[in-house]
Amino acid sequence: MRRILVAILALGAIAAQAQKAPKNVIIMIGDGMGYNTVALRILDTKGASNFERFNSIGSIKTYCADGKITDSAAGGSAFGIGEKTYNGAVGVDVNKTIKPNLMEVAQKNNAATGIVVTCALTHATPAAFSAHQPNRSMGEEIANDIANANIDLLVGGGMKYFAKRKDGKDLIQKVKDRGYSVYTDTSSYFASQNKKSMVILADDHMKAANKDRGNYLPRAVEKTINLLNENKKGFVMMVEGSQIDWACHGNDTEMLRAEMADFDKTIGVALDFAKKDKNTLVLVFADHETGGVTLPPVETNSLSEEYGDYTVKYSTGAHSGTLIPVFAYGPGAETFQGIYENYEIFHKILKLKGWKK
Ligand SMILES: [Zn+2]
Repeated sequence: MRRILVAILALGAIAAQAQKAPKNVIIMIGDGMGYNTVALRILDTKGASNFERFNSIGSIKTYCADGKITDSAAGGSAFGIGEKTYNGAVGVDVNKTIKPNLMEVAQKNNAATGIVVTCALTHATPAAFSAHQPNRSMGEEIANDIANANIDLLVGGGMKYFAKRKDGKDLIQKVKDRGYSVYTDTSSYFASQNKKSMVILADDHMKAANKDRGNYLPRAVEKTINLLNENKKGFVMMVEGSQIDWACHGNDTEMLRAEMADFDKTIGVALDFAKKDKNTLVLVFADHETGGVTLPPVETNSLSEEYGDYTVKYSTGAHSGTLIPVFAYGPGAETFQGIYENYEIFHKILKLKGWKK
């Protein structure tokens, strides 16, 4: 009897574990988004922020292989290839050796893959998931890699790196020859049913959220999820709120609030899908903090303890070394609790999926 009971319990444990493997993984990176950046959004919205819908929260240490403060290339590569590397590196290790990235591992396991960003597709963070070059500044070489990368859906800016290149190559034709549909406006993409598409909406980066970008990011993410979800073997998608970082570099609070509102709304789209689907892990985190954002009281020289409102202050125009929050929702979300290294996110995803590097 006891043996049977043990066997039943063991089977139950295996079943519970098996249930924890998500079919789909949506990674959402708010470039430069630290705890206080998120706090600003949460406090501004008085309980209406999608950040408050997550049930598991952890923290990552973001320093890179050659410095205590990372740039977006080394930061993105930690997530992309699962290793800390040097500042400037995209998809290569400290010895400049090419390492398989998360999208390549997913493709090997028949998952569909997608990238949606608000910057050029060749920029540091998306490049860390789609290219392998010794330096982030090598835009045309990164575009070459992306044109050969087999990522099913690519949405963002950066036309000048694919067409009108210094070396005269036409990568748009090459991508078309490889079976991709290429779109240069959102309405054609939103109406399309093609499961292999490249959508390039700007010569370089897209506009800022407070400068006419409209609903692009939430809508493009919704469309891309729907197309990727047609793959029976699941999908891995990387979404970046690329310009949160730039708002903080510029100590521009109006832009920061607009970028965070846009990113928050986009998180809502992913969470709504995951809630319905019940088989999707949504991870929201950042590569590093930018701006050294704090929320001090408006009246800074008051000795009174009756504080009024907070304001937004920056302690730097650069990146900082603070811990970064990781928000997780869906099957396996509890795996992302605790305090750990940035590159462990890559390995935690592979372990949940049962994939090898
Ligand atoms: Zn930056």
